[in-house]
Amino acid sequence: MKKIGLTGNIASGKTTVENMLIDSGYKVIDADHICHEAICNNAEIIEKIKNIFEGKDITDEAGSLSRKKIGKIVFESDTERKKLESIIHPHVINKIEKFFISNSENDIVFASVPLLFEIKLEKMFDKIIFVSATQAIRLERLMKRNNFTKEEALQRISAQNTEDDKIKKSDFVIFNNGTVDELSKNVNDIIKKL
Ligand code: ATP
Repeated sequence: MKKIGLTGNIASGKTTVENMLIDSGYKVIDADHICHEAICNNAEIIEKIKNIFEGKDITDEAGSLSRKKIGKIVFESDTERKKLESIIHPHVINKIEKFFISNSENDIVFASVPLLFEIKLEKMFDKIIFVSATQAIRLERLMKRNNFTKEEALQRISAQNTEDDKIKKSDFVIFNNGTVDELSKNVNDIIKKL
């Protein structure tokens, strides 16, 4: 079984690529989904998060953890972000490892991990695919998808490391600066090379 890591900066098109892979019948796990699921439904993780953010407003009206409120806290403070990551990252890694084990009868499986290089997970994968798009295009897509102002979108884009280093560390790059049809062709071309 080949384990393929899929990564890329914000709004580059990772989810769009993932959906194309799923449509082609491949098994794909998504680190963002694992995080969302943990924050919403995993009692142990929820408890740990409540403990590390004790005294801070992190819940919504129903008493559930608010990803928006937590997101704001960790976006504004590296210390708080690291605390959250110390809980979430081991959980994500564990889920991906279990996914690989339970899908080991497949020839190729994919894990979409936005922070693959930042968390230094390269060794978990046989090959890494980087989804790339110019900053101007990512900005436009992010504003449209999230209803962000230009400032909000730029803030999120600038919070990440640039693509250059990550592209160098990747085995394949999918350039997603064109149409969805072109993206689909690029994805199929890379699948043939895996
Ligand atoms: P994030 O890092 O925020 O999770 P992502 O890398 O998963 O983002 P997507 O959500 O796949 O990115 O794409 C960002 C937005 O751009 C989406 O609204 C998607 O529909 C759109 N998009 C992706 N690729 C193209 C394309 N080639 N042409 C037009 N729109 C696109």
